[in-house]
Amino acid sequence: MADDTAGGAAAGSGDGVRWLFADQLGPHFLDSTSQRAVLVESTRVFARRTYHRRKAHLVLSAMRHRAAELGERAVLVQAATYREGLALAREQLTDAERAAGLSVCDPTSRAARRFVRGLDGVEVLPARGWAVTEAQFAHWAGRKGQPGQPRLLMEDFYREVRKHHHLLLEGDGSPLGGTWNYDHDNREPAPKAPTLEEAAGVAEPWWPHEDDVDAQVREDLDRMVRDEGVTFVGEDGPRRFAVTRREALANLRHFLTHRLEAFGPYEDAMLAQDRWMAHSLMSVPLNLGLVHPVEVAERAEAAHREQGVRLASAEGFVRQVVGWREYVWHLYWHLGEDFERANELGAREPLPRWFTDLDADGEVRAACLSDVLGTVREEGWAHHIPRLMVLGGYALARGWDPQELTAWFHTRFVDGYAWVMAANTIGMSQHADGGVVATKPYWSGGAYVDRMSDYCKRCPYDPKKRLGEDACPFTGGYWAFTARHEERLAANRRTSRAVSGLHRLPDADAVVAQEADRGSSAP
Ligand SMILES: Cc1cc2nc3c(=O)[nH]c(=O)nc-3n(C[C@H](O)[C@H](O)[C@H](O)COP(=O)(O)OP(=O)(O)OC[C@H]3O[C@@H](n4cnc5c(N)ncnc54)[C@H](O)[C@@H]3O)c2cc1C
Ligand code: SF4
Repeated sequence: MADDTAGGAAAGSGDGVRWLFADQLGPHFLDSTSQRAVLVESTRVFARRTYHRRKAHLVLSAMRHRAAELGERAVLVQAATYREGLALAREQLTDAERAAGLSVCDPTSRAARRFVRGLDGVEVLPARGWAVTEAQFAHWAGRKGQPGQPRLLMEDFYREVRKHHHLLLEGDGSPLGGTWNYDHDNREPAPKAPTLEEAAGVAEPWWPHEDDVDAQVREDLDRMVRDEGVTFVGEDGPRRFAVTRREALANLRHFLTHRLEAFGPYEDAMLAQDRWMAHSLMSVPLNLGLVHPVEVAERAEAAHREQGVRLASAEGFVRQVVGWREYVWHLYWHLGEDFERANELGAREPLPRWFTDLDADGEVRAACLSDVLGTVREEGWAHHIPRLMVLGGYALARGWDPQELTAWFHTRFVDGYAWVMAANTIGMSQHADGGVVATKPYWSGGAYVDRMSDYCKRCPYDPKKRLGEDACPFTGGYWAFTARHEERLAANRRTSRAVSGLHRLPDADAVVAQEADRGSSAP
């Protein structure tokens, strides 16, 4: 990669007061240990959309903890809007500080970028907290995007990032262990035991201790609901995710020492009694900007080199953090705003209520969906495969509107941010881009869920059945989706076999009619 101003570098003017958004809370968003900071809590953000209560809690808790850490260096204000908040904050600055103006690192959504550029007296600095800059990505993508050049692939990008930051490399620059990707050693089916602790002695995740700041946040959220007409979705409960840098590093250390070993093999597996499996729970602190992704990857590399954690697990984790996460961030900007409106499959069905309210009334009988929605209701989180293959897969098969689904993922998950949505939801999960991010749609029948989880054995449906009372809605949905998009799937080498399979079914028409009947009702 050409330009060497890595995302973590402090590239600002160093003068004046820094305005910190709620996802810019790590030390790398300030230029010095004496710089002053402004933080604005905007209540209208929560009034505009129905967020998960846990997400609102994490964001407010993180901002208030950061302000407390900075002490007198921080000006924390509460206001309806950012504009009003900034005006209030300015009143608390000295004349010299007001005269020097504010600076802000480029924020992470299009709306926020437009907003900061429209403000007087605010200097906008390059974004921070990324492994490579937007200019570096554009340079790489420009080379790839030329006619006759291969398409953009995460795997190619990831190797560039590894080389750029000397991550998991041998002395001669070749990949550690001789290969760039250890997927073939990872991603095993679900173990037979009910939890990873029983299957492989995996320790439970690190949990934070709540403090007075959390108690105050809880009170304030209750007040917003009671007096200000704000509505949240999901259940409240003990805070599960790190909101300070100290907590983030404690969580990371615990994960690397006690859980990373099992991350690779069980990365894709799901167990009804083990929602966290061997995942890191780092998306929240990473997305709040508390830790830098390269720092996280370097610590994972050290866990392999110094603590002997298996390379396949360390590599698999590093690929998520500086490969997928970074790629998704850059695609948000690279693919542009129109990408977010894409609906190549013409999916127009509205999201049903049982889905939007996270099955609060317990209408869903399908064990996989019921459990995953319950986990989201309780935690505002689920790991990657429940998001992609259970929630996203069901939406895809039912033809739900991809933009509505994007808004749902954005608001229902504790780690949801605008930039994560485009590639993950529009692209990977819903194939609404027609194949820009992923070469084929991720849709599957009950056989996949059965292999990767222990859900099916406790479900009233049968993953092998496509027709009848106990026909699995994923299996039936798989064939209905295949029939609906037959032409497109037949034209793609990677999906044409599904169409041949459909043609061999003696009861294809009956399955399609059954699924049309089932529609979006609670399965
Ligand atoms: C439909 C869909 C929606 C998603 N929405 C979000 C979201 O709103 N916010 C979010 O951070 N992630 C999202 N992801 C990616 C991924 O599911 C979560 O990052 C992960 O499950 C968080 O749990 P963890 O921290 O334990 O992750 P781990 O499994 O431990 O992975 C390590 C880290 O890798 C990063 N990562 C891995 N894959 C991705 C990815 N595809 N995109 C971005 N980061 C990735 C995350 O920062 C994560 O913390 C989504 C994936 C899908 C398929
Ligand atoms: S049988 Fe079908 S609906 Fe039931 S858990 Fe398995 S995949 Fe899910």
